[in-house]
Amino acid sequence: MANIQRRKTVTASIGGVRVGSDAPVVVQSMTNTDTADVVSTVEQVAALARAGSELVRVTVNNEHAAAAVPHIVDELDRQGINVPIIGDFHYNGHVLLTKYPECARALAKYRINPGNVSVGRKDDSNFRTMIEVAVENQKPVRIGVNWGSLDQVLLTRMMDENSRLPEPKDARQVTMEAMVVSALNSAALAEKYGLRADQIILSAKVSGVQDLIDVYRALAARCDYPLHLGLTEAGMGAKGVVASSAALGVLLQEGIGDTIRVSLTPSPGGDRSEEVRVAQQILQSMGIRSFTPQVAACPGCGRTTSTFFQEMAEQIQTYLREQMPFWKDRYTGVEEMKVAVMGCVVNGPGESKHASLGISLPGTFEEPKAPVYVDGRLFTTLKGERIVAEFIQILDEYVESHYAARVEVTAKSM
Ligand code: SF4
Repeated sequence: MANIQRRKTVTASIGGVRVGSDAPVVVQSMTNTDTADVVSTVEQVAALARAGSELVRVTVNNEHAAAAVPHIVDELDRQGINVPIIGDFHYNGHVLLTKYPECARALAKYRINPGNVSVGRKDDSNFRTMIEVAVENQKPVRIGVNWGSLDQVLLTRMMDENSRLPEPKDARQVTMEAMVVSALNSAALAEKYGLRADQIILSAKVSGVQDLIDVYRALAARCDYPLHLGLTEAGMGAKGVVASSAALGVLLQEGIGDTIRVSLTPSPGGDRSEEVRVAQQILQSMGIRSFTPQVAACPGCGRTTSTFFQEMAEQIQTYLREQMPFWKDRYTGVEEMKVAVMGCVVNGPGESKHASLGISLPGTFEEPKAPVYVDGRLFTTLKGERIVAEFIQILDEYVESHYAARVEVTAKSM
């Protein structure tokens, strides 16, 4: 694992999942079903949890959603899916949490957006009501500031104050500072109303990479609450993945971020669980946590005219992903296995030797044989039509011989 010095924070517990300080960086996600539709929401939460989401947030936007929450939690429990469910509240959270006490009890955490909790009011009674429900039920709260719904009263006041300075800052700087102030002021208020510091998590999400880095650096320097990290409205496809990776990568490298969410917009009918896999991949690529065996594959070039090795790399990656739900309970440490699938002799044997096991396929004009390396040594050479099937068989044997043994040792030593 990478030697990254995590920022020291208090540690919160969300339905038994520890967040902060030396706890592993937690992966979370959010459903996009209508929460009032219990069947669809349970189905999606289950899929997200199976993909590896350790916390799942659902929107609680109206009375139907609030009434559905206890049924969602019960049904997940009945199915043996123990992922904590977080309620996302905007505008009317104070009403829903008091009118639906079973919803308040069933949720593992509440997300409160200080920018829209007291719209049209001069006091903070709505915020106070939500915090009091959290205190009564002993639930942690995320104070989640978002620049799309930043507290306009606070922002206007800070802009006015800034304009009176001899050398005013630019509007962007003031907006970023207003986000930090909104989060910190709300956290102080929450403590004043009875929430403990270790029941508070902060976030301040923006959609620009450099803005996010600036805001979180400032937030991290000025408090010791755990931070929920994520680029809001990251977007679709490669743009969303790359922007999230760039922003989160910089901050995680500095030890900032205790739980992460990658806010990808799925394509119509797309798989919501992709955001979980991307979040895991960010952490695993940085050597922060391991979730699934990694496949190193070369990009291919003119030395290989067939797409065979690309297809093989994809088949192996898919095979590993599909096996992990079964493997992870049975084979200790299998998620750290590295597999190389390479296109020709130039880097094939070298990269394969660095992997747990690797195969170097024949490039153009090379002899049609594929040496297989296990733990850095030539193990066998495959030929013919069944290369993929035979390599997968070697892979299965490797997993059984290298990772099952550790389970036995652990069991005996207990
Ligand atoms: S390993 Fe061979 S096929 Fe793959 S990119 Fe390098 S030279 Fe090209």
